[in-house]
Amino acid sequence: MQLGLIGFPLGHSLSPPIHNAALRAAGLAGEYRLFPIPPLPEGAQALAGLVSRLRQGEFDGLNVTIPHKPNVLALVDEQTPAVETLGAANTLVRLTGGRLRAANTDVPGFLSDLYANAPHLRDQPGQALVLGAGGSARAVVYALAETGWRVTVSARRYEQARTLVASLQPAFPAIRLSALHLDAPSLGGLTFDFRLVVNATPAGMHPRVDVSPWPPGAPFPRAAFFYDLVYNPPETAWLAAIRLAGLPGCNGLGMLVEQAALSFAAWTGFDPPRAPLFAAVSGSYGNSF
Ligand code: NAP
Repeated sequence: MQLGLIGFPLGHSLSPPIHNAALRAAGLAGEYRLFPIPPLPEGAQALAGLVSRLRQGEFDGLNVTIPHKPNVLALVDEQTPAVETLGAANTLVRLTGGRLRAANTDVPGFLSDLYANAPHLRDQPGQALVLGAGGSARAVVYALAETGWRVTVSARRYEQARTLVASLQPAFPAIRLSALHLDAPSLGGLTFDFRLVVNATPAGMHPRVDVSPWPPGAPFPRAAFFYDLVYNPPETAWLAAIRLAGLPGCNGLGMLVEQAALSFAAWTGFDPPRAPLFAAVSGSYGNSF
């Protein structure tokens, strides 16, 4: 199996150890390689070349990350409904006849890990708060709205949150999506409503580990589960404050493993056991408290 990841930069990607563990678990020979392709327009030819090698069977599957998640859509034959709505794919799958499908395993990967860590939320969607309004926030809002959650998107640039909500609302006419400025006065009056808070900003990520996305002075919702997409460090300053407040939460390592496992299953037909995939990157499960 020849697998790989297209993106830029890719220096510290954890995808190779996760996928190589999946290959071992499946008993398949092969490798997962990194293909750093600069942003467009500089990387346009290299990107098209790699995707065409997948079409011709030289590769068996490719992942895609920043900045190429939207760029690959012009190079494929079909898109899943989530990709069509989000305008971003993280997985390219070759179908029979050399057709290429763009899929997004971040969406089911997030939901699967969320409900593994907070099973009580699975059958009781309520009001969720998503911090940040970038690419991963879009995937999280899509995942939550698709499973019945009402979602408030909160960003330090209110306009960015409003644009995200306006672009996804038509796909979910029966679900209320709203935008909020990410500051203490705006959050203060609403926090009691939320049953789930997701950090979809890079705040707290290595090396700026002292940064938190949560506005100083805003209370934590007391009935919420807290999900941090960041996983390096395993406990961000935000998650540490939540744990100290006696509230439940987890980091995003499980989402990383799940999206990888779902991509691997789409390429190979083999649903890998999760334990060796976690072991390849963290040595253990236990990313929640
Ligand atoms: P992105 O597209 O750059 O968006 C980042 C968002 O966070 C923007 O709205 C940005 O606002 C906001 N933001 C940045 N720093 C902030 C701060 N200090 N306080 C408040 N808001 C802040 O990034 P992304 O692709 O969505 O990724 C976000 C994070 O999720 C990254 O750390 C990434 O590694 C992680 N992630 C994890 C997984 C996983 O599998 N666990 C999957 C995808 C992403 P401005 O535009 O105003 O800066």
